[in-house]
Amino acid sequence: MSNSYWILGVIVGLVAGTSALAAPTIYHNATIYTVDDTVPVAQAIAVDGQRIVAVGTEAEVRAAAGADAEFVDLGGKTVLPGLIDAHGHLPGLGGFELGLLDLTYASSYREMVNQIAVQAVKTKPGSWVLGGRWDHESWASKAMPSHSLLSEAVPNRPVWMRRVDGHAALANAEAMRLAGITRDTQAPDGGAILRDKHGNPTGIFLDNAMDLFADHIVGDGMSMLERLRAAQRACIRVGLTGVHDAGMSGEDVEVLRGMDARGELDLRVYVMIHGAEAAEYFETHPPSSGERITVRAAKFYMDGAMGSRGAWLLEPYADRPTDAAGKPWAGLGLMAPDDLRNAAAHALEHGYQLCTHAIGDRANRETLDAYEAAMRDAGVKFGEQDLRFRVEHVQLLSLSDVPRFVSLGVIPSMQPTHCTTDMRWVEARVGAERARGAYVWQSLIESGARLAAGSDFPVESANPFYGIHAAVTRQDSHNEPIPDGWHPEQRLTREQALRAFTLDAAYAGFENTFKGSLTPGKLADFIVIDRDIMTCDAGEIRETTVLRVVIGGEEALGTGD
Ligand SMILES: [Zn+2]
Repeated sequence: MSNSYWILGVIVGLVAGTSALAAPTIYHNATIYTVDDTVPVAQAIAVDGQRIVAVGTEAEVRAAAGADAEFVDLGGKTVLPGLIDAHGHLPGLGGFELGLLDLTYASSYREMVNQIAVQAVKTKPGSWVLGGRWDHESWASKAMPSHSLLSEAVPNRPVWMRRVDGHAALANAEAMRLAGITRDTQAPDGGAILRDKHGNPTGIFLDNAMDLFADHIVGDGMSMLERLRAAQRACIRVGLTGVHDAGMSGEDVEVLRGMDARGELDLRVYVMIHGAEAAEYFETHPPSSGERITVRAAKFYMDGAMGSRGAWLLEPYADRPTDAAGKPWAGLGLMAPDDLRNAAAHALEHGYQLCTHAIGDRANRETLDAYEAAMRDAGVKFGEQDLRFRVEHVQLLSLSDVPRFVSLGVIPSMQPTHCTTDMRWVEARVGAERARGAYVWQSLIESGARLAAGSDFPVESANPFYGIHAAVTRQDSHNEPIPDGWHPEQRLTREQALRAFTLDAAYAGFENTFKGSLTPGKLADFIVIDRDIMTCDAGEIRETTVLRVVIGGEEALGTGD
């Protein structure tokens, strides 16, 4: 670190912040991990208005901030840049925060049915009993549920419970009756209706087949504003200062803008518009970037999820190679690759970024192919133009596709906790050989890709320390498997993991020039935590408590008292 760097930083900061007449604030007595290679670890940070004006040793920062600076003593704690979740769902998280039935801890189908029956009594007449997050892979039986037990326990109220991955749902008999589902109902393209050996629906609907219920479900009465407020609280509490929302409607964005206008939006939100609305949105809304809300991306789905066997694979599933009719089963393509190619061309034309959900190796290849074709058609100079198209999840890759992310300038946006949840059964789904291409974070980074990390909340917890723990250990909440986790060659270093949840997540949103590291001139978004996650026992990273959250120089959580 040279002094001239810091003096330059201070000058830039003060010039940019001349309207702020208040004295700078120096946060000191801390171990500060900056995610800035110029000065990776600092002792103090000075903030003026919304921006960082100096970072360095105590003496350097005091000298730069001037004699009238105010001081906040951080008591020797650890400071990180505000963490950014590059893939979450704020409305979904808000719903669970506000009391949608959360079946995460149901340890069997019977227990899940009991919880639903209790919820049914509390649900107001006319509404559906709604909830989700069940995971049959966490039950001893590991069997996909069938509706009969549920329909006996709750015969008169419609029940609709999404699987943890959001790519399958269980309906009871009353829900199917109201939606007009019979044994003759056919699944739409990109969907499947699971059936018993007599051909009757089991109540499980995969991917696009869930749309058969969309017009019939009577909601929970929660407004989008309530959901977003609740989600914002939940995110800030665990140390997130930014979230990339992976699929909002234009209407949802207006609710966010309203919060911003009223000064009640602390969280910074990077929005991906739902694919279904994207074409119209591109035509009617130019990309917009702001300090709290940026809308310049759209979200598409190429396939389903691995847990419900909807992920689109190059070869059939190892643990269910054929469907009930005896046809090979390799998952579901949710959209025609040509449609994605057209959407990519349209996005390029309008200056939007595309973010496509792809989990299976086939879905990833089709997505990369579609992006490549659209870019070639548009005359893109590969390696020069900075389009930052993204693939969301990237859970299973054919190893030959790994280098394509860098060559196409595509960002892998991945969720470390998906790996540690799924590792219990991934090898059963795809076999040991293909599993070598599962959650290959380190291979992607070594190939030169910039990895954006997230959680996919509410599929997983929004707590980014769970994600950092999973990234550096490839172990679950019990720190298993021992000694080095599942496929330890793909673990990240702590520095890589922190970067993926900060600077490179910001990069995935074109925001790395003003967010994602503690660098003079950038927004003053940082958090104070109760332990040093760069040196503590790796197994303890999950236990981290967030003491203070500062966003744009203002306290969003905690006062340190
Ligand atoms: Zn998602």
